[in-house]
Amino acid sequence: MDKNQEDKLEVEIREHSDADFYPENCPSCGCKEINRKTYKIRTIQDLGTPMICRRIRYEKVTFICAKCKKTFTIRHPLIPKRTSFMPGVIKYATLRILKEGDSIRRVTKDLNNLHNVEVSISEVKSWVDKEGKRGELKVDFSDEVPPEDFSGFISIDGTFKAATTKKNDPNTSKKKEQPK
Ligand SMILES: [Zn+2]
Repeated sequence: MDKNQEDKLEVEIREHSDADFYPENCPSCGCKEINRKTYKIRTIQDLGTPMICRRIRYEKVTFICAKCKKTFTIRHPLIPKRTSFMPGVIKYATLRILKEGDSIRRVTKDLNNLHNVEVSISEVKSWVDKEGKRGELKVDFSDEVPPEDFSGFISIDGTFKAATTKKNDPNTSKKKEQPK
């Protein structure tokens, strides 16, 4: 491989469609003749590497019953609802922040720069908030005794960290430019 080849970013696109799970019956009348009505394409980001940008191209299909003319959609088993990130991206971020004690700023930067995921700090923070509310802390800290004043999280000027972290993260003392 020459140098240019090595530096080239590869875009890996996986395609999923509701048509792969074509409905057998109309949910209203049970008729077996189902047609496609409309479709919408959604792009969903997956965790890549510094060399590979990973995207899911998802075709959301609206079906129509040939008999009763009712339209309906199905739930694709691999595609998360109402988010443009695959579950693995969110899991990776929340594990690093809640379990490893990395800062939201740091993880957001790594997602953007090392994993080819375009995401904002506020978005990553919303994942952490959601994960914390779900009570998953008991899993993350199961083998550690919480300190007396344990409140789950501490927040220091915008960074949001697990309270039991021992590492000194330079990002908490030094303001850096926020990645887009
Ligand atoms: Zn029908």
